[in-house]
Amino acid sequence: MRRNIDYHIHSTFSDGELHPTEILKAAEGKNLKSICITDHFSLTKLALNEEELDIYFNTLENQNNSALSIFMGLEVDLSSIKDFISLTKHSWDLILFEYVFFWPDWEKKLHEVIRFKKDYFDYNIGLAHTRFTRLPESRINYVLSKITKYEIIIELNTGYKNYLDPWFGYLDETFLFSLGSDAHMEYQLGEVTAAWTYLESREIPSTCVIDLKK
Ligand SMILES: [Zn+2]
Repeated sequence: MRRNIDYHIHSTFSDGELHPTEILKAAEGKNLKSICITDHFSLTKLALNEEELDIYFNTLENQNNSALSIFMGLEVDLSSIKDFISLTKHSWDLILFEYVFFWPDWEKKLHEVIRFKKDYFDYNIGLAHTRFTRLPESRINYVLSKITKYEIIIELNTGYKNYLDPWFGYLDETFLFSLGSDAHMEYQLGEVTAAWTYLESREIPSTCVIDLKK
């Protein structure tokens, strides 16, 4: 069954147009029940830096709305971080890593994500708008076996439509998914219908989609 969720949203803490308070109000208006704000943590774009993580986390933690749940997330640019320590000072509900397969050294990046998951297993760790087509096809089974083994979440991102990547055909009900709009503006908020439709067309049950809980 479809749920009214959106687990990839940007606020004014990075390059989004709405403050978290405004996001919450807009989300309530759209009848969303569960949202995760995932602002950028990166050196190369309009993003949070290490010093800003405290105020960002506290601002999200102090948002209250009886109609829906709000969760604390980050979208992390792996190429920007020196170590993971700055990420471990808060109990994030979801950390999405981007550009894992973008770089020539994708294997090293994948192992960094796995190491983070192994060392700090309390976090939901996902791959933001992943496309597998940058991988050599001979390595896809290897990569997917690691993703399953370490329960790395694969995001279906309706902004990037990454699930149209033909190699998503390799995915089935043994994987974990997250759904996000990658909203930067109000009109994009909660627009994850196409991702649900994709999962249904592949007969992947909605129980494979993560459900963040307080
Ligand atoms: Zn994003």
